[in-house]
Amino acid sequence: MTNYTEGLDYAKEQDKNDTLSHYRNQFHIPKDKDGNDWLYFTGNSLGLQPKATQDYIQQELNDWANLGVEGHFEAKNPWMPYHEFLTESMAKIVGAKPIEVVVMNTLTTNLHLLMVSFYQPTKKKYKIVIESDAFPSDRYAVQTQLNFHGFDADEGLIEWKPRKGEDLLNIEDLETILEEQGDEIALLLIGGVNYYTGQYLDLKRIAEIGHAKNCMVGIDLAHGAGNVPLELHDSGIDFAAWCTYKYLNSGPGSLGGLFVHEKHAHNKELKKFAGWWSHNKSTRFNMRQPLDIIPGAEGWQLSNPPILSMAAIKASLDMFEEVGMKALREKSEKLTGYFEFLLKGLNNDKIKIITPSNPKERGCQLSIQVQDSDKSLHKKLTEAHIITDWREPDVIRCAPVPLYNTFEDVYRMVEKLKEILS
Ligand SMILES: *Cc1c(COP(=O)(O)O)cnc(C)c1O
Repeated sequence: MTNYTEGLDYAKEQDKNDTLSHYRNQFHIPKDKDGNDWLYFTGNSLGLQPKATQDYIQQELNDWANLGVEGHFEAKNPWMPYHEFLTESMAKIVGAKPIEVVVMNTLTTNLHLLMVSFYQPTKKKYKIVIESDAFPSDRYAVQTQLNFHGFDADEGLIEWKPRKGEDLLNIEDLETILEEQGDEIALLLIGGVNYYTGQYLDLKRIAEIGHAKNCMVGIDLAHGAGNVPLELHDSGIDFAAWCTYKYLNSGPGSLGGLFVHEKHAHNKELKKFAGWWSHNKSTRFNMRQPLDIIPGAEGWQLSNPPILSMAAIKASLDMFEEVGMKALREKSEKLTGYFEFLLKGLNNDKIKIITPSNPKERGCQLSIQVQDSDKSLHKKLTEAHIITDWREPDVIRCAPVPLYNTFEDVYRMVEKLKEILS
C-alpha cells in the first residue's frame, strides 16, 4: 500500500515523478474564461478529446474528398477492413483474443443483438438477473427482451441487491439467487464495474456461478473498458459489450465494443440477426450468395460502419497501445488511492465514500455519498469548474483518469471540497 502525504508539494512531487504525466498534453483540457484548466473528473461519462483525433478524422475526410467510393480500397486506411485496424488493440484492453472482439454499433444496440443469440428462454428457464442498481438502459433492454419473448418483465427480472443498510453487492447473494432459482434463470447480465458505486465485480466468479446452473453470462463493461484490467477470455463469460466514449475517449455517441467468447465462435446453431457485414468477406460482393456468417465476433456485425467515428476510436486506441493498460492501472491505483486518502482526511460526516476501498474491487472512480442528498455541494463544485457528476439519489461520481488527470487536480479538488464543506 502506498503511503501518502498531505499538502500541495507532495502532489506536485508525484506529478513530477509520474512517467505518464506527458500524456495530459496530448488532450484538449477544457478551460474557464481566464484560461485556467477545468478540473475534469468525468472521464467516466465522456472522456476528453485527444489532440490527435482531429488528424485521424481529417485523414478520412481527405480520402473521401479525393477518392470518393474508391476510398473503400484506396484510402490510406482502407474503409472496407477499417474495423480490423481496431480489433487487436481493443482485444488487448479487455484481455481477449482478436476473434472474440469487434467494434460496432452502440452499447445498448449491441446488448440487444447479443441477447438475440444468448437469451434463448424456454417456458421454464427464462428469467434474467441484473444488479439492482443497473444502468437504466440495461434495465430497459432486458425488460423489453422479456416482453419480446412473451414474459412479464416484473416477474421475469431478478434483482441482485445490496444487503439492507449496505451499498455494495455481495457475491454470496448472487450465489444464493442461483441456488434458489437457477433452474428458472436463463441469463445473467451484470455491470462489471457498477456505474453508481464504482464497484468492480469478480467476473470469473460470476461466470462460474452462472454456468453452474446452465445460465448464459453477459457483462456490461461501459465503466470497465479502459479503466480496470480485464481478462475476458480467461474469465469464461459468454459475452460482453461496452462503449468507447467514456474511458476510451472516442467522442460523444461513438461506437461500442463487443466480446463473444471463443467457445461460441464457430457455433452455427446460435441464433443471430445478420446483415451483409456478417457475411464472409471473400464473397460479400458477389451479392447473390447464400448467407455465410463470419466466425467469431465479426459475425455479429450488420452494416458497413461509420468510418469517421472509427477514426476517432483509432486515435484513442493507438494511444492506449502505446501506454498499455498495465502502466495505466499502476498510476490509476495510486491516483485514486491518493484521492481516497485526502477525502478521508477531511473527516467530515457530510460525505461518505461508497466505492470499495480495496483497489482490486474498483477502477478510478470514487462515488461520494452526500448526506441528505444535498445537491448544493455538486453545484458549488461545478461553479468552481470542478466537473464531477451528480447521480440520483445522493452521489457525486468523481473519476481521476490516469491518462490526463494529475495529483495536483486531485489535491485542488479536495481543497475546494474542504472549503465548501466548512
Ligand atoms: C454509459 C452506459 C450506457 C449507455 O448506453 P448507450 O447505448 O451507449 O447510449 C449503457 N449502460 C451502461 C452500464 C452505461 O454505463
